[in-house]
Amino acid sequence: MTEKSNILTKAGILIIDDDPNLRKTLSDILGAKGYETLTAKDAAEGLSLVRQCSFDVVLIDLGLPDIPGIEVLNKVKASRPSAEAIILTGNATLDSAIEATNKGAFSYLQKPYDVDQLLLHIKRAVEKREADRKILLQSTELKKINTELRVLYTKANFSSLHDPLTGLANRRFLEVQLEKHYAAAKRYGQLLSVIMLDIDHFKLYNDTRGHVEGDSLLVRFAQTVLETVRTADYVFRFGGEEFLVMLPGTDRDHACMAAERLRRVVESEAGVTISIGVSSFSADIATKEQLIENADKALYEAKNKGRNRVEAWPCG
Ligand code: GH3
Ligand code: MG
Ligand code: MG
Repeated sequence: MTEKSNILTKAGILIIDDDPNLRKTLSDILGAKGYETLTAKDAAEGLSLVRQCSFDVVLIDLGLPDIPGIEVLNKVKASRPSAEAIILTGNATLDSAIEATNKGAFSYLQKPYDVDQLLLHIKRAVEKREADRKILLQSTELKKINTELRVLYTKANFSSLHDPLTGLANRRFLEVQLEKHYAAAKRYGQLLSVIMLDIDHFKLYNDTRGHVEGDSLLVRFAQTVLETVRTADYVFRFGGEEFLVMLPGTDRDHACMAAERLRRVVESEAGVTISIGVSSFSADIATKEQLIENADKALYEAKNKGRNRVEAWPCG
């Protein structure tokens, strides 16, 4: 039985020693110094208390009646790695001191103990516990901040690459993707086409129905384009009412077919028409910008030739 039967609710000191006088004396001294103490007469009782309470410091006698003190130290460290253990023994040897230190003991003192020295060791052990606790708290806080920062970064990164109205990838994202696919076309001869599309008379649409209606049309329109192209294709909002579809692995003829399909779907579903310029990678294309410029020129041609039509560069 312990001399004190209440269970610690806050950190304190546990004394595991089979000497009743030592338990009593030390308990009183530590109590007078403002520590909360519990005592145990053997290892079984001590380890049971260690499992129940979170002690700052556990004083362990090496010569306990049931289990050797070194084993008790192991079990205390296994069950409460953060508790500091101070070995207090009447049978001190250099080997046991080294072994105890290797097994994680905070310090090692010989009986009869010097009260001031023991108090100093306990004070240092408690200070170490507090410092460890602070570090743990700080590292938990840092982990939380780190997670928050990562979420913010992901959001900011997404926003910087997407258009807030339609949710489509934006021109900055186009730069990144086009760079990659243009390089593959240039280096390995992979096919690559782009389709530039522009809503016909969208200014008139806005003027007659209002800007808010215009915005919702753009959102619906973006959805229609996304649903009409293949999953391997990329859709970007290029500018106000201009969109660009990048088609990796697609030649001029197939890009024209995809463009014509888009034109027809938009005409029948979106309530507006579009003009389209198609351009495909070929050996004479020197830069990725030129690929876009050619699509733009073809689009201009489609507008000139009456809108709601597809033109491919070079226009014949
Ligand atoms: P064209 O057939 O020659 O392309 O004529 P257009 O009227 O479509 O072209 P223009 O360049 O004269 O006008 C484009 C219009 O698109 C004007 C602009 O207010 C509108 N617009 C651009 N971005 C947005 C947007 O985010 N929301 C809305 N509602 N309108 C936009
Ligand atoms: Mg337009
Ligand atoms: Mg335009």
